[in-house]
Amino acid sequence: MHAGNENTADTVLLAGVRRGERRALAKAITLVESTLPEHQARAADLITKILPARGTSMRIGISGVPGVGKSTFIEALGLYVIAQGHKVAVLAVDPSSSLTGGSILGDKTRMEKLSLCDEAFIRPSPSSGALGGVTDHTREAILLCEAAGYDIIIVETVGVGQSEIAVAAMTDLFVLMQLPNAGDDLQAIKKGIMELADLVVFNKADIDPLASQRAVAQMRAALSMLRPVSVNWTPLVVSLSALKQDGLETFWQHVSDFRLKMQASGEFESKRKHQALAWMDQQINSGLRQRFKQHPAVAAALSEISAAVENGSMTSAAAAQRLLGLAS
Ligand code: GDP
Repeated sequence: MHAGNENTADTVLLAGVRRGERRALAKAITLVESTLPEHQARAADLITKILPARGTSMRIGISGVPGVGKSTFIEALGLYVIAQGHKVAVLAVDPSSSLTGGSILGDKTRMEKLSLCDEAFIRPSPSSGALGGVTDHTREAILLCEAAGYDIIIVETVGVGQSEIAVAAMTDLFVLMQLPNAGDDLQAIKKGIMELADLVVFNKADIDPLASQRAVAQMRAALSMLRPVSVNWTPLVVSLSALKQDGLETFWQHVSDFRLKMQASGEFESKRKHQALAWMDQQINSGLRQRFKQHPAVAAALSEISAAVENGSMTSAAAAQRLLGLAS
C-alpha cells in the first residue's frame, strides 16, 4: 500500500478504535501482532497516538492451570461488572501456543455469553510466536482496549511460571486461581508465583465447601509467611464458585478495596510508571539483541564461533567478547 494511503487508513482505524468499534479494535490489535517491519512501524505510530487517550482503567491478571475454571469465572465476572456499568476486555497470554502450535485459551466456544455482550471484547490468544512476542503484543493490546473505552481489562494466562511473571508485570492486580486439594499451592510457592498474587481464589467451592474452607485457611497461613510485595496491601484469599456465580460480589469488593488503597497511597500510579520503565528496558534489550544478530559481521562469524565454543577450542566468555567486538 502507498504510504499516504496507509496514513489515511490508520487515521480511520484510530478514529474507529476511539469510538469503541470492536472491528477497528480487533484490526488494530492484529496490526500490533504482525511481525512485518512495516506493520510494526505503523503499530508503534498508532500506539503513540492513542497514549494520551488512556482513561482510568483497572488491569487484572488472572492465572491458573487449565480446568481450574478461568473462563467460567471470567465470563461470570465480566457479566457481573458489565451489569455495574463497566466495559470489559479479555486478552489471553497463552504460552502453549508457541510450544504446540495450538492454543488452549484460544478456543472460540469459551465465554459465549460474554462474547455476545456489546460491552465486552474478547481477544483469543495469538496462534503463534514466542512467549516474549505474545506478551509484547498483549501490552499494546491493553492500551488499545483502553483507548476504545474498556475500563476493566482482564489478562488471562495458564500457569507455567514465565507467563505469570509477564502478566503480573503488565497488570495492576494479579489473581491466582486454584482448586482446593490440588496441591497447586505448593507448586506455586516453589515457582515463586505465590509472591505475585494480590488475591488468591479457590474456585469450585460448591463441590466440597469444607475442603474449600480448609484450603483457604492453609493458604492464608502460607501467605502470612511470605513478605507482602506492597506495604499497602496484604494478599487476600477467597473461595467461590464461578459456576454457581457465588462469591463474585465479595471478590469484586476486594478488587475495589485494592484499587482504593493503591490509589490513595499513590502506589497505583507508581506501579504503572515502574512497569512502563521496565517495559522500556525490556524493549531495549530485545532491540539490541536483534540488531546484534542482524549485524553483518556477527552474522558472518556466528556459526564458526559457535562451533568453536561447542568443540571446546574457545571459551564462551571469549566468544561473546569477540562477537560483541564485531558488532561495535
Ligand atoms: P479453564 O480451563 O481454567 O478456563 O476452566 P473452565 O472455565 O473451562 O472450567 C473447566 C471445567 O470446570 C468446566 O467443565 C466448568 O464447567 C467447570 N467449573 C468451572 N467453575 C466451576 C465451579 O465453580 N464449580 C464447579 N463444580 N465446576 C466448575
